Amino acid sequence: MTDRHYKEFNIKDYILHIYRDYRRYVYAGAFFIFGLSLGLSNLLFTGGDDVPETTSEAVFEEMATAAPTEPGAPAPKAPRETTISNTPGDAPITLAESLELIEEGEGEVVLKEIRIKRGQGLMDALVDSGADRSDAFNAIESLSDHFNVRRIQVGQKIDLSYTPDGTLERLEMQKDFDHLIVVEGDAGNYEGATVELPSQIITRHASGIIDDSLFLAAQRQGLPQIVIVDLIRIFSYDVDFQREIRKGDQFEIFYERKISEDGRRVQEGNILFAKLTLSGKEIGLYRHTPSDKDFADYFHEDGQSSKRALMKTPIEGARLSSYYGNRKHPVLGYNRMHKGLDFSAPTGTPIMAAGDGVVERASWYGSFGNYVRIRHNGTYKTIYAHMSKYGRGIKKGVRVQQGQIIGYVGATGRVTGRHLHYEVYMNGSQVNPLALKIPSGIKLKDQAYQEFEVVMENTNQLIDQTKSHILLTRDITGDEASVSP
Ligand SMILES: [Zn+2]
Repeated sequence: MTDRHYKEFNIKDYILHIYRDYRRYVYAGAFFIFGLSLGLSNLLFTGGDDVPETTSEAVFEEMATAAPTEPGAPAPKAPRETTISNTPGDAPITLAESLELIEEGEGEVVLKEIRIKRGQGLMDALVDSGADRSDAFNAIESLSDHFNVRRIQVGQKIDLSYTPDGTLERLEMQKDFDHLIVVEGDAGNYEGATVELPSQIITRHASGIIDDSLFLAAQRQGLPQIVIVDLIRIFSYDVDFQREIRKGDQFEIFYERKISEDGRRVQEGNILFAKLTLSGKEIGLYRHTPSDKDFADYFHEDGQSSKRALMKTPIEGARLSSYYGNRKHPVLGYNRMHKGLDFSAPTGTPIMAAGDGVVERASWYGSFGNYVRIRHNGTYKTIYAHMSKYGRGIKKGVRVQQGQIIGYVGATGRVTGRHLHYEVYMNGSQVNPLALKIPSGIKLKDQAYQEFEVVMENTNQLIDQTKSHILLTRDITGDEASVSP
């Protein structure tokens, strides 16, 4: 590890950077914590002119789309706002604003910025800042028409203006990313209003090579934690992140970021496209809201939603000959739990992978005979037993797609006749495949697929635009950083 002096120097340097450019805070914060905790101080910021950060192995691009705030855009599930107004870079602006007010001849208005402390109500906070108790009460009354004041959060920032004689005349509070609540009044008569704040959505593109984990690789490319978590979430149906990530795998992400008009606030938006290249195999996902659905989902290029069910019957033209549950064992003769389903079918009938995944085992396994086990994600595995032979190329470590032939019905192992014995494991133990309640996947077809194709095309175009925008900038500055295709 590097020596302590170097690290201290970097910390100071880092604080200076925050002062100069608050936007950096969002990226630098993630880098800083990560770097400090691992002692990888060489990963801390080393300056540069502006975002994006660029390394030789990966690029980070962004561009402003002309799109203003979309009123119809679905609200993100989790709060994604990154408040950066509490950085030191904020202070000079507040000062400037106050000077401006004074110059406008409104008297010596006193501006105060307060934050709700733990255990403090809004009333206490206003009175503590110098408001008259009845003024505070009236102001809160007006505020409550626009905001549930009981749900005020610790740390909530409120800007207050007092007249020269100490009367509260204005209260400003950010309601959410797009709305500001303003309460104004004189002589105890307050009027509240919700003001819509303009913002801009920019798109950002990042890609990189995974050396250790996707999380760390993405963080190194300046992706905020909330976006990385989202990235992992959307791939969680396809990928087992504990096991499937290998050194040299790649990621690509294209997502939205909302920036307030004053540039002070940032809110991370939706991932529009993401791609993982795992052991050379690409898995791409596009965000799309089918016209008959209320919410967006992620889809593979072929129109298959990423949230897909395991096939309950991984074989066609078979008869369910034995259910899940207690039964008298046909060979051993005593009662035992049958932890799967038996499908009776002619020898040689193809057996399909119940879902996308990685083959964990494809070899003889005692009484199961020729046996295949597939790991679908961190939660589900399926097993297939008594097969006469394996599907083409099916062996340990191979990635398979839902519906791919992994073997053929047979009578190997301890059996009385040819059948497929099929089990589903959930978190390590067998469950009844027929009782499974996992997100049902949809596959876009016909008209629905054509709509999706348009979305894919638009997204791809936007990605190209975002990349070329940066390329243009680089040409001007003469930066020779490489850009991934
Ligand atoms: Zn069985």
